Amino acid sequence: MIIHTQKERDIFIEAGRRLGVVLEKLGKAARPGVSVGELDKMAEQLICDGGDEPSFLGYTPEGSGRAYPASLCLSVNEEVVHGIPTESPRILKEGDLVGLDLGLTHNGAIVDSALTVPVGKSNKTGYKLMEVTATALEAAIAVSQPGAHVGDISHTIEQSFVSTGFSVVKILGGHGVGKYVHEEPFIANAGRAGTGEELVTGMVLALEPIANEGRASVIIANDGYTYCTKDGSRSAHFEHTILIEENGPLVVTRRPSEK
Ligand code: MG
Ligand code: MG
Repeated sequence: MIIHTQKERDIFIEAGRRLGVVLEKLGKAARPGVSVGELDKMAEQLICDGGDEPSFLGYTPEGSGRAYPASLCLSVNEEVVHGIPTESPRILKEGDLVGLDLGLTHNGAIVDSALTVPVGKSNKTGYKLMEVTATALEAAIAVSQPGAHVGDISHTIEQSFVSTGFSVVKILGGHGVGKYVHEEPFIANAGRAGTGEELVTGMVLALEPIANEGRASVIIANDGYTYCTKDGSRSAHFEHTILIEENGPLVVTRRPSEK
């Protein structure tokens, strides 16, 4: 969507602030021995306590056969994105890489953000995968200036993984957001600079680089939602919702520790 008024802008900033706070709490709660179902309950509770709604619960993406049954998308290790915590008995264990992806609706404004955290301590490659993916997100944010094109974001994300040994998942990517969970334009995680829709002031976008430790190929599990790496290698995912403003991008979903 496109923001037109200061009031709408203020609502998005507050929505993003709230989501950042919730995601940071979830990241800290992802400890060894915690079940993925508990983290989903916690996400829902924290959002509802603030008087807001979990945007993903009951949402049916285009082309999907059923509504998403949880508040949180939680993807562990070889799960890339869209893992369903309410349908898994999984207990987190030391060394797991956990992707936490959450949408929050505040006063009608939908914001979307994700991070990947280690459960306890990860290994060197795990930390590197998270660091490179988080850095790709920052690079993507930096090029999201008014007058730039969607392809500039895609190209920047793709370039961030060159010579890292990791594989960006090109078929997944970011999107417009705000009124609905997924809006136009789709922002692929790879592409040509200067192509695609032009970014204009007021746009609300979710940018989300996703990368695998091994090969880029992903498969969808039998649940119809969970993307997994085909080679079983681990994956990382970072996402922020941004507003395109005259002076550049404004990240609304920064977590307290990022500020
Ligand atoms: Mg998301
Ligand atoms: Mg998203």
